[in-house]
Amino acid sequence: MNYYRINPKLFDSKWAYPEIYANCLNYDHNVKEEYCPLCKRPVLGSKWLGPYNVYLSSKKIPNVLFGTCGMIFDMKFKNAFLNSNLKGIYNFQEYNVFYKGKQLEDTFFHPLIEFSKKKFEFSIEQNEKRQNNKSLPKCSLCRNSGRGAYDDGINFYFDENREYDIFRIYENPSQIYCNQEFYDFCLQNNFTNIIEHFERIVINQH
Ligand SMILES: [Zn+2]
Repeated sequence: MNYYRINPKLFDSKWAYPEIYANCLNYDHNVKEEYCPLCKRPVLGSKWLGPYNVYLSSKKIPNVLFGTCGMIFDMKFKNAFLNSNLKGIYNFQEYNVFYKGKQLEDTFFHPLIEFSKKKFEFSIEQNEKRQNNKSLPKCSLCRNSGRGAYDDGINFYFDENREYDIFRIYENPSQIYCNQEFYDFCLQNNFTNIIEHFERIVINQH
Protein backbone atom coordinates (compact mmCIF):
# COMPACT_ATOMS: atom_id res chain seq x y z
CA MET A 1 0.00 0.00 0.00
CA ASN A 2 1.29 3.46 -0.89
CA TYR A 3 0.97 6.38 1.52
CA TYR A 4 0.90 10.08 0.83
CA ARG A 5 1.19 13.38 2.57
CA ILE A 6 -1.34 16.01 1.46
CA ASN A 7 0.92 18.97 0.92
CA PRO A 8 -0.92 21.86 -0.78
CA LYS A 9 0.67 25.10 -1.91
CA LEU A 10 -1.06 27.80 0.11
CA PHE A 11 -2.15 31.07 -1.49
CA ASP A 12 -1.94 29.56 -4.97
CA SER A 13 -3.65 31.74 -7.57
CA LYS A 14 -4.97 28.82 -9.67
CA TRP A 15 -7.89 28.16 -7.31
CA ALA A 16 -9.71 30.09 -4.62
CA TYR A 17 -8.32 29.70 -1.11
CA PRO A 18 -10.28 30.35 2.08
CA GLU A 19 -9.20 32.62 4.93
CA ILE A 20 -10.79 33.08 8.32
CA TYR A 21 -12.33 36.47 9.12
CA ALA A 22 -10.23 38.10 11.82
CA ASN A 23 -13.29 38.78 14.03
CA CYS A 24 -14.12 35.04 14.04
CA LEU A 25 -10.88 33.99 15.70
CA ASN A 26 -12.31 33.12 19.11
CA TYR A 27 -10.55 30.40 21.06
CA ASP A 28 -11.02 28.47 24.28
CA HIS A 29 -7.45 28.36 25.53
CA ASN A 30 -8.32 25.90 28.29
CA VAL A 31 -9.28 23.23 25.77
CA LYS A 32 -6.87 21.99 23.14
CA GLU A 33 -7.97 20.36 19.94
CA GLU A 34 -6.04 17.15 20.53
CA TYR A 35 -3.93 15.56 23.26
CA CYS A 36 -1.38 12.77 23.03
CA PRO A 37 -3.16 9.72 24.49
CA LEU A 38 0.11 8.44 25.97
CA CYS A 39 1.76 11.44 27.68
CA LYS A 40 -1.40 13.65 27.69
CA ARG A 41 0.32 16.78 26.43
CA PRO A 42 -1.60 18.91 23.90
CA VAL A 43 -0.43 18.29 20.34
CA LEU A 44 -2.80 20.72 18.60
CA GLY A 45 -3.60 24.30 19.57
CA SER A 46 -6.53 25.84 21.41
CA LYS A 47 -10.05 24.96 20.38
CA TRP A 48 -11.52 27.36 17.82
CA LEU A 49 -15.06 28.34 18.85
CA GLY A 50 -16.07 29.98 15.59
CA PRO A 51 -18.20 31.43 14.07
CA TYR A 52 -16.93 29.36 11.15
CA ASN A 53 -16.92 32.12 8.58
CA VAL A 54 -14.30 32.18 5.85
CA TYR A 55 -13.86 34.30 2.75
CA LEU A 56 -12.53 33.27 -0.62
CA SER A 57 -9.70 34.82 -2.60
CA SER A 58 -11.51 34.29 -5.91
CA LYS A 59 -14.58 32.65 -7.43
CA LYS A 60 -12.66 29.80 -9.04
CA ILE A 61 -13.96 27.27 -6.53
CA PRO A 62 -12.54 23.73 -6.65
CA ASN A 63 -13.99 20.70 -4.83
CA VAL A 64 -11.22 20.89 -2.22
CA LEU A 65 -9.84 24.15 -0.83
CA PHE A 66 -6.79 24.78 1.33
CA GLY A 67 -6.18 27.91 3.34
CA THR A 68 -5.44 29.31 6.77
CA CYS A 69 -8.51 27.41 8.06
CA GLY A 70 -7.04 24.12 6.88
CA MET A 71 -8.78 21.85 4.38
CA ILE A 72 -12.42 22.35 3.41
CA PHE A 73 -14.46 20.70 0.71
CA ASP A 74 -17.83 20.96 -0.97
CA MET A 75 -21.03 18.94 -0.64
CA LYS A 76 -20.11 16.75 -3.62
CA PHE A 77 -16.91 15.66 -1.89
CA LYS A 78 -18.64 15.12 1.44
CA ASN A 79 -21.42 12.97 -0.06
CA ALA A 80 -18.96 10.91 -2.10
CA PHE A 81 -16.88 10.29 1.02
CA LEU A 82 -19.93 9.25 3.04
CA ASN A 83 -21.03 6.90 0.25
CA SER A 84 -17.59 5.31 0.02
CA ASN A 85 -16.20 2.81 2.50
CA LEU A 86 -13.32 5.12 3.39
CA LYS A 87 -12.47 5.74 7.03
CA GLY A 88 -10.75 8.56 8.87
CA ILE A 89 -13.14 11.51 9.03
CA TYR A 90 -15.21 11.36 12.21
CA ASN A 91 -17.12 14.61 11.79
CA PHE A 92 -17.69 17.51 9.41
CA GLN A 93 -17.67 21.07 10.64
CA GLU A 94 -19.92 23.23 8.47
CA TYR A 95 -18.30 26.45 7.25
CA ASN A 96 -20.05 29.58 5.97
CA VAL A 97 -18.22 30.75 2.89
CA PHE A 98 -18.26 34.34 1.66
CA TYR A 99 -17.04 36.02 -1.49
CA LYS A 100 -16.75 39.82 -1.51
CA GLY A 101 -18.88 40.06 1.64
CA LYS A 102 -21.75 37.93 0.30
CA GLN A 103 -22.40 34.45 1.63
CA LEU A 104 -22.41 31.67 -0.97
CA GLU A 105 -25.43 29.38 -1.12
CA ASP A 106 -23.24 26.30 -1.20
CA THR A 107 -22.19 24.73 2.07
CA PHE A 108 -18.61 23.70 2.69
CA PHE A 109 -17.18 21.35 5.28
CA HIS A 110 -14.01 21.06 7.30
CA PRO A 111 -13.18 17.41 8.05
CA LEU A 112 -12.27 16.36 11.58
CA ILE A 113 -9.63 13.73 10.93
CA GLU A 114 -8.76 10.73 13.12
CA PHE A 115 -5.30 10.26 14.61
CA SER A 116 -3.62 6.95 13.83
CA LYS A 117 -3.27 4.75 16.93
CA LYS A 118 -1.14 2.12 15.22
CA LYS A 119 2.04 3.13 17.04
CA PHE A 120 0.45 3.14 20.46
CA GLU A 121 1.58 -0.30 21.71
CA PHE A 122 5.04 0.17 20.21
CA SER A 123 5.32 3.55 21.93
CA ILE A 124 4.46 2.11 25.35
CA GLU A 125 7.36 -0.35 24.92
CA GLN A 126 9.70 2.42 23.78
CA ASN A 127 8.73 4.57 26.75
CA GLU A 128 9.66 1.70 29.06
CA LYS A 129 13.05 1.34 27.33
CA ARG A 130 13.70 5.00 28.03
CA GLN A 131 14.41 4.18 31.66
CA ASN A 132 17.74 2.72 30.42
CA ASN A 133 18.24 4.86 27.33
CA LYS A 134 17.79 8.56 27.94
CA SER A 135 18.42 9.39 24.29
CA LEU A 136 14.92 8.15 23.49
CA PRO A 137 12.17 10.79 23.45
CA LYS A 138 10.18 11.24 26.65
CA CYS A 139 7.13 10.13 24.71
CA SER A 140 7.63 7.88 21.72
CA LEU A 141 4.13 8.46 20.38
CA CYS A 142 4.21 12.25 19.94
CA ARG A 143 8.02 12.41 20.25
CA ASN A 144 7.86 14.89 23.07
CA SER A 145 11.38 16.29 23.73
CA GLY A 146 12.31 16.33 20.07
CA ARG A 147 14.73 14.09 18.28
CA GLY A 148 15.17 10.58 19.52
CA ALA A 149 17.46 7.64 18.84
CA TYR A 150 15.16 6.23 16.18
CA ASP A 151 14.29 9.57 14.64
CA ASP A 152 15.15 8.80 11.02
CA GLY A 153 12.12 10.19 9.24
CA ILE A 154 8.45 9.49 9.59
CA ASN A 155 8.06 6.67 12.05
CA PHE A 156 4.67 5.18 11.99
CA TYR A 157 3.47 1.69 11.76
CA PHE A 158 1.86 0.36 8.66
CA ASP A 159 0.88 -3.21 8.25
CA GLU A 160 -1.74 -5.11 6.31
CA ASN A 161 -4.43 -4.18 8.83
CA ARG A 162 -6.20 -1.13 7.50
CA GLU A 163 -6.89 1.53 10.08
CA TYR A 164 -7.79 4.84 8.38
CA ASP A 165 -7.60 5.97 4.76
CA ILE A 166 -7.07 9.62 5.74
CA PHE A 167 -5.46 10.39 9.10
CA ARG A 168 -3.06 12.38 11.23
CA ILE A 169 -0.14 11.14 13.33
CA TYR A 170 0.78 12.41 16.80
CA GLU A 171 4.41 13.15 15.94
CA ASN A 172 3.42 15.56 13.14
CA PRO A 173 -0.14 16.54 14.09
CA SER A 174 -0.73 19.44 11.73
CA GLN A 175 -0.05 17.29 8.66
CA ILE A 176 -2.71 15.18 6.87
CA TYR A 177 -1.77 11.75 5.51
CA CYS A 178 -3.69 9.30 3.35
CA ASN A 179 -3.32 5.96 1.66
CA GLN A 180 -3.74 4.73 -1.92
CA GLU A 181 -7.48 4.09 -1.33
CA PHE A 182 -8.08 7.77 -0.58
CA TYR A 183 -5.87 8.80 -3.51
CA ASP A 184 -7.87 6.55 -5.89
CA PHE A 185 -11.15 7.87 -4.51
CA CYS A 186 -10.12 11.45 -5.38
CA LEU A 187 -8.88 10.38 -8.81
CA GLN A 188 -12.01 8.36 -9.69
CA ASN A 189 -14.31 11.20 -8.65
CA ASN A 190 -12.27 13.75 -10.59
CA PHE A 191 -12.11 16.11 -7.65
CA THR A 192 -10.29 19.34 -8.43
CA ASN A 193 -7.40 20.77 -6.38
CA ILE A 194 -6.36 17.59 -4.57
CA ILE A 195 -4.55 15.07 -6.82
CA GLU A 196 -1.66 17.45 -7.49
CA HIS A 197 -1.02 17.86 -3.74
CA PHE A 198 -0.37 14.20 -2.91
CA GLU A 199 3.27 13.58 -2.07
CA ARG A 200 4.33 9.94 -1.79
CA ILE A 201 6.08 9.19 1.49
CA VAL A 202 8.69 6.65 2.46
CA ILE A 203 7.68 4.44 5.35
CA ASN A 204 10.14 3.39 8.03
CA GLN A 205 9.10 -0.01 9.30
CA HIS A 206 10.01 -1.07 12.81
ZN1 LIG B 1 3.07 11.95 23.89
